[in-house]
Amino acid sequence: MRILITGGAGFIGSHLTDRLLADGHYVTVMDNLITGNLANIDSHRADPRFEFIHHNVSNHIHMIGPLDWVIHLASPASPVDYLELPIQTMKVNSLGTHNTLGLAKAKSCKYLLASTSEVYGDPEVHPQSESYWGCVNPIGPRGVYDESKRFAEALTVAYNQKHGLDTRIVRIFNCYGPRLRVNDGRVVSNFISQALSGRELTIYGEGKQTRSFQYVSDLIEGFIRLMAVDYHEPVNLGNPVEFTVLELAQLVKQLTGAKSQVVFEPLPVDDPRRRLPDISRARKLLDWSPQVDLKSGLEKTISWFSQQLDCLARQI
Ligand code: UDP
Repeated sequence: MRILITGGAGFIGSHLTDRLLADGHYVTVMDNLITGNLANIDSHRADPRFEFIHHNVSNHIHMIGPLDWVIHLASPASPVDYLELPIQTMKVNSLGTHNTLGLAKAKSCKYLLASTSEVYGDPEVHPQSESYWGCVNPIGPRGVYDESKRFAEALTVAYNQKHGLDTRIVRIFNCYGPRLRVNDGRVVSNFISQALSGRELTIYGEGKQTRSFQYVSDLIEGFIRLMAVDYHEPVNLGNPVEFTVLELAQLVKQLTGAKSQVVFEPLPVDDPRRRLPDISRARKLLDWSPQVDLKSGLEKTISWFSQQLDCLARQI
């Protein structure tokens, strides 16, 4: 198959690119590199089945030749990034989603939207199943991401219903692994970078808020399985084992052997207090469940971060 991945130079996109190329497909990555990184896809540059196009998908997309899939992953995804890039975030999830849907329609191909657990906002129902509508502050700082992803879902459903486009929607819960940017600003990235460089681990609020962290290879397996079934409703992909942020900090300290202290900083506005996926739908539909526990996933991630930090240190 020939597959377009928008945001394919990013953390998740580049892992999906690796997997689809390994499975024998042709992959075109389209990315404007505002949060993506060419180093993530460097190893494929010489592969004749791989192509990179530097383009912002919020602008019209022109592609020559047939396509089998459009997978729309492009968007800033770290709260730090979308707070810094609020308008680009809203544009890529609205105009970018419209352009990619239009492209899929023009090519009569299938379409997969990467949505997010942020559509549930600061949820009042636990765990979050796909039937929960969420609790989102539209004008809070996270609204730019949450609401534009909600719009993206609505538009994808409209293209499915009105134009018969063959669509999929994945709601991605917290994901981590190698290729998370060292300065990404999300919690796993921050704690590992801080621990490896002997700095204090920054806990926002009291650290009692929870998240459940899925390793990137589990998410990629979920994508592949969802592409293989005929199903148009949203599907949660996440790890249903819940940790407090404080527990995560302790685990990172233990695995890195860091002597760093933890420091408490103000909790960001509208930071979800609890996030926990109900993955019954993915279990049933895709026979999917996460295989990598937090400890083993963190070990792999820590080892990748330490190589990155060594490289950075050599460059200084
Ligand atoms: N967090 C933290 N310290 C950090 C970065 C994040 O305590 O250095 C907290 C943040 O307030 C949130 C959780 O960790 O409660 C997860 O944050 P992240 O930015 O990874 O993504 P989110 O799940 O909020 O989208």
